[in-house]
Amino acid sequence: MDKKTIIQTQSDLVADWDTLFRVFIRPEGQASRATLIKYMDRILYGLNDFLKKHVGITEAKSLKDLSEKFTGTIISDNPEKKLADVITCLIEDIAPHAVNVASPYFIGHMTSAIPFFMVHLKTIVTALNQNVVKLETSKIVSVIEKQVIAKIHRMIYNQDDAFYQTHVQNTDTTLGVFVEGGTTANLSALWAARNAVFAPKTGFAGIESEGIAAAFRAYDVDRCVVLVSRLGHYSLRKAAGILGIGNQNVIVLDTDKNNRVDITKLKQIISRIGKENPKTCILAIVGIAGATETGTIDPLEEMAEICAEHHIHFHVDAAWGGPTLFSKQYKHLLNGIHLADSVTIDGHKQFYMPMSCGMLYLKDPKKLDVIAYYAHYVNRWGSVDLGIKTLPGSREANSLILDCALKIMGANGYALLIDHGIETAAAFAREINKRDSFQLMTPPTLNILTYRLCPAAIQNKLNTADKTQRQGICEKLNVINQRLQRIQREAGSSFVSRTTLLRDNNPDDSIVVLRTVIMNPMTTISILNEILDEQEEIFETQLKALL
Ligand SMILES: *Cc1c(COP(=O)(O)O)cnc(C)c1O
Repeated sequence: MDKKTIIQTQSDLVADWDTLFRVFIRPEGQASRATLIKYMDRILYGLNDFLKKHVGITEAKSLKDLSEKFTGTIISDNPEKKLADVITCLIEDIAPHAVNVASPYFIGHMTSAIPFFMVHLKTIVTALNQNVVKLETSKIVSVIEKQVIAKIHRMIYNQDDAFYQTHVQNTDTTLGVFVEGGTTANLSALWAARNAVFAPKTGFAGIESEGIAAAFRAYDVDRCVVLVSRLGHYSLRKAAGILGIGNQNVIVLDTDKNNRVDITKLKQIISRIGKENPKTCILAIVGIAGATETGTIDPLEEMAEICAEHHIHFHVDAAWGGPTLFSKQYKHLLNGIHLADSVTIDGHKQFYMPMSCGMLYLKDPKKLDVIAYYAHYVNRWGSVDLGIKTLPGSREANSLILDCALKIMGANGYALLIDHGIETAAAFAREINKRDSFQLMTPPTLNILTYRLCPAAIQNKLNTADKTQRQGICEKLNVINQRLQRIQREAGSSFVSRTTLLRDNNPDDSIVVLRTVIMNPMTTISILNEILDEQEEIFETQLKALL
């Protein structure tokens, strides 16, 4: 079809009640029914071409060229397009410039292919348009949500049958909540931890009501801190900002050589805070189960023990790694997660759900009582309304998608995906070690690893170089890896991401690394080899002179 006819404004279109009625009623006539089915068909199959292509983050068109085409800011009075034309435009003009995150060559981020049934499930959820903030707009969906939350809770905490019988449909207790993503889940966890520490008492109505200054006075505290590894997700800093704790009070813990929290240093910091700043309150300690940059997992059991000893809220950020619990072979990597007071898991990551779905799970079913809000028209006292204890208000029925996905996949289906990612990442690491051009920087614990281009001869040089020589070489390597990542991305057939890590926790020794996340089941070791081949070729032909 000629693109111009699509983009052209259809000036004969008008907004009138006839048209409005047509878009709001159900497709009763055979003709309109057939039309709507045809449109769904176009969506499901029209995108096929796009999904089969290489990753094409750039295509030929630059972001600048694209943005110049999208500068009009006036909403047209009359309709510009019919549904059919809008769909055509999305499929033919927009999708080709979107990023094909479903490509098995797209291994740079935590966003990837999703099973195609997710599109169907999302469509049903949209068609039902339930609002899970309250029972009056969701009814059975609220019940199903409680059940699926209990299922995931059981996977994490593994309490006995009696516990789940008591809580699965209990309207007074909360085993978990659905929120928008890992960011809001982490925020909710710290919110609950904060309100529990600064709880109401005689003469003080609680921090939620009186605010942070009054809370500090009431409890004779002058600073609140959250402790997390250097690899902690930046959402924790956002949360500290929003909660009035201050993001500079998210204290970064040094990591050991395996990028896990250094337990000795953690103990030292806690005792130092106790001695030097007795008016500092440690609000929470966060353990990571699958760090965003390296996929590494903190020593959760030891951290839980320390938290229990000091009566500190222990939060585990398993936004990425949570679903590893499906794998019989690898779930031991998360040992100790059941000791966490709260656990973040993202549905849109390793549950392979569409954007976006976050969840927070609680060991104590009464834990979220401290963040409950009520209103007269909704979320009344004693009601089942799930919005009482969630940060979001109105929200879609993501729980239906998760519930159906669990039924379609089974725990074993998810385990296959998890095992594939972990094992492919391990094979990739072996391949990187085999090649002279590369240096593995953080070996994979789960399915994330980092490496860099650094020829063997240079690696040897680094081992014997003095400090200034080292710095000189490292700066060159940083530039090379930065450019390498960009050139490969621009070429458009594959994508790895890039981040900066610190050597030995030293802020003056930052290393640019290439980062890969292996979650697409179609990503095979031979594809990964192709990606390494391309990188070697880019280095040989374009970057070698920089060394
Ligand atoms: C992705 C991620 C988050 C943030 O989740 P969003 O869904 O992007 O808000 C938090 N923590 C970790 C470890 C993550 O990987």
